[in-house]
Formats: sequence, C-alpha cells, structure tokens
Amino acid sequence: MDLRFTPEENTFRAEVRAFMRERLPPAIRAKVVEGRHLVKEDLVTWQRILNARGWAVPHWPQQWGGTGWGPVELYLFRDEMQQAQAPEPLPFGTSMVGPVIIAFGNDAQKKRFLPRIANLDDWWCQGFSEPGAGSDLASLKTSAKRADGHYIVNGQKTWTTLAQYADWIFCLVRTDPAAKKQEAISFLLIDMKTPGITVRPIQTIDGGHEVNEVFFDDVKVPAENLIGQENKGWDYAKFLLGNERSGIARVGISKARIRRLKELAALEQSGGKPLIADERFRAKIAAVEVELKALEMTQLRVVAAAAAERGGNGNRPDPASSILKIKGSEIQQAITELLLEVVGPYALPDQIPHDQSERWNEPPIGPDWAGPLAPGYFNARKISIYGGSNEIQKNIIAKAILGL
Ligand SMILES: Cc1cc2nc3c(=O)[nH]c(=O)nc-3n(C[C@H](O)[C@H](O)[C@H](O)COP(=O)(O)OP(=O)(O)OC[C@H]3O[C@@H](n4cnc5c(N)ncnc54)[C@H](O)[C@@H]3O)c2cc1C
Repeated sequence: MDLRFTPEENTFRAEVRAFMRERLPPAIRAKVVEGRHLVKEDLVTWQRILNARGWAVPHWPQQWGGTGWGPVELYLFRDEMQQAQAPEPLPFGTSMVGPVIIAFGNDAQKKRFLPRIANLDDWWCQGFSEPGAGSDLASLKTSAKRADGHYIVNGQKTWTTLAQYADWIFCLVRTDPAAKKQEAISFLLIDMKTPGITVRPIQTIDGGHEVNEVFFDDVKVPAENLIGQENKGWDYAKFLLGNERSGIARVGISKARIRRLKELAALEQSGGKPLIADERFRAKIAAVEVELKALEMTQLRVVAAAAAERGGNGNRPDPASSILKIKGSEIQQAITELLLEVVGPYALPDQIPHDQSERWNEPPIGPDWAGPLAPGYFNARKISIYGGSNEIQKNIIAKAILGL
C-alpha cells in the first residue's frame, strides 16, 4: 500500500489550500480558531461560497452537484478545509439525508430537495434518537399511521442537533406496530412548520444550546414524503449511519487545534517561563501528536483501500471507520484537556458562562482567548457519544473486524 501522494494530488491540495485562504471569510475563521459559537448565518454563508465553487457536496454524484473526485481528492479536500479552520459543513443535509435521497428517493424528491440541500436553502435536522432509543435505536416508538394520503405522526425525538433552526427533519418512525422491531420502521421527511411540532431546547453542560427535544402531536405528513418503501426505513438508516461515521477522524481539525494549543502555551507563564518550555507539558503534547500521526496513517490506509476499489467513492461504510471515530474522538478530547491546562485558573466554574449561550461571546475574564476554552472542554465530551458511542463502535469492531 502506497501512502504517498502523486504530483497531481499535491497540485490539487495546493489549489484547495489557495481557495480556503482566499475565500474563507476571516471573521468566520476567527470564530472557529478561537472556539466561539458559530451562528446559522456563518454556516449558510460558508456553504454558499463552497456551492458557488461547485464544492458544496463533492461526494455526491456529478448529476446532483458532486465533483466526481475519488477518495483521495475527497480526503485532501476535507483535510485542507479542516486545517484552514473553516466551519464544518452542516452534515444533516449534505452527508446524511442527501445521500439517502440520492440512493433511495424518487425523482420528484431528488429534484425538490437536493439542490436546496447543496445551497443550504433548507436546514435539515436528524430525528432518530428518542428517550429510550439511542444505542438501541430500533426500539424507537414514534408512530406514523397512514390515512387518506397522509401519515399522522405522534411521539418524541431527542438530542436533535440545531433543530431550532431547521426547516425540515428526517425521521425514523414506526409504521407497523405488529411487526418485529427493525421491520416496522419507515423513513419520513417532515416539514418543521407543520402544525403539531414543538421544539424545546436542552441546555448542555457548557451552557450552550445545540440540542433539542422535538415533540410530534398528530402531525399530518403527506405520504409523498416517505423515502423508498414503507417498513424498509431501517435499511436506509443503516446506510446513513455508515456515512455518518466516515470522515469522522477529524485529523485536520486536531492538527489545527494542536497548533493553537502551542501558540497559547507560549503566551502563558509557568514557573517563570512560558508553559510551552515546560518539559512535562511538551511531553504531553508530543504524546498526543504521536497518536494523531498514527490516526492519520490509519485514515490514509482506509482512503487508499477505498481508492483501490474500482469505482469506490470513499463513502462506502467501512467498519474501520469505527476505529477512526474512537481514536479521533479521544484525541480531540485530549487536546481540550491540554487547553484546559493552559487556561488554568480561568477555567474555574465561576468564570464559565453557564446560563445563556449568548454569553459565550461576551468578553472573558482573563486573557481574551481564555473564555471559550473551558466550555470547549465540556462541549467536547459529546464527541464520544454522538454518531454511535465509543462503546458501540467497539462492539462493531469486535463483530465486523475481529469476528468475535
Ligand atoms: C451532542 C449530541 C448531539 C446529538 N445529536 C443527535 C441528532 O441530531 N439526532 C439524533 O437522532 N440523535 C442525536 N444524538 C443522540 C446520539 O446518537 C445518542 O446520544 C447516542 O446514540 C447514545 O444514545 P443514548 O444517549 O440514548 O445513550 P444509551 O444508548 O442509553 O447509552 C448509555 C451508555 O450505555 C452504553 N451502551 C449502550 N448500549 C451498549 C452496548 N450494547 N454495549 C456497550 N455499551 C453500551 C453507551 O455507550 C453509553 O455509555 C446526539 C447526542 C449528543 C450527545
């Protein structure tokens, strides 16, 4: 397996890097660098800049706005975008429901939804998890009863990320109460403006508002919003979850955060010298960098294997992506722990905004870079939970890779 890039691939990387340097708005980049909250407008602005360049949905088929890139170009593009500290494109449309519509939707659904996803005209959210149905997703209870060309939906979703901004939600619903767990689930697209939908915020440990509960009370959904066949939604969900876990290593993001960590550690004093000169602290950074290099190599092996596959586009679910998820999340969390060491006493609880997400953007007490670091540490605890917790990823590795 050859993990070196060809001259053409290096030229491509340089082109992407130049684009990021020229077109990523500095104010948006600064928020990402400093770990401040992005608002809806930031994500929409960046998505539309990418779309104008034809790079909004590079992994989609060209017919629907994709680029035709192979796995290596996709990898390089994502790595450069992450290292440039661009916002991560909202995954719910481009990486989740979009590919499901492409693979299993009908023509009318493709024409109606795909261009709007690429341009972020529609903000999508993911309605899978419920109270009592997270890791054991097939236990979900939200019901959809068919009557007169409609489904009547009742139930509750939870942890729904950024539902407060959403125009649409894609939901797993139970359409056949008599059938076995997985065989009774359908995949339904629901307009968030439909009467009977209530969105309630869940405040997270960092004081932010990015997840919600979503309640459905006799919500009338046109039957034409069903994806594929009734009671086959579990197959589409498995396809989606496989996509959700690919590209999850976030090596580029971790590289950029380590650069930031070193910059900040040079500003702080410890024992009369900059913290970055402290040997024990340097050893901790080095240990994370070694892990990150190993993760990058593993990711490149996954990319190279996908590229070697005829017609592979890098999006076929690979059980090795579970390894990327586990190590990627552990490394991202370890970096936030080191950042917490840098921020020191400014991370004390009474320095942390804990009541309103708006306070994230207030001037912090202490150096102006210190404010978002402790909330960032708390927020990063989520990375080993969403998209299938690390314990669930270990189960997948045990079964699909080790054959246990
Ligand atoms: C920040 C955040 C954003 C999210 N966004 C969304 C979203 O937009 N849409 C959506 O649908 N969902 C979303 N989720 C939900 C997420 O997918 C679930 O939280 C996750 O699947 C775990 O489910 P749970 O919370 O019900 O925990 P549980 O499934 O109850 O798990 C509790 C604990 O038990 C462990 N566990 C469970 N089963 C096993 C097992 N078989 N073997 C070993 N250990 C096990 C888990 O690892 C975990 O530690 C989000 C979650 C978070 C934290």
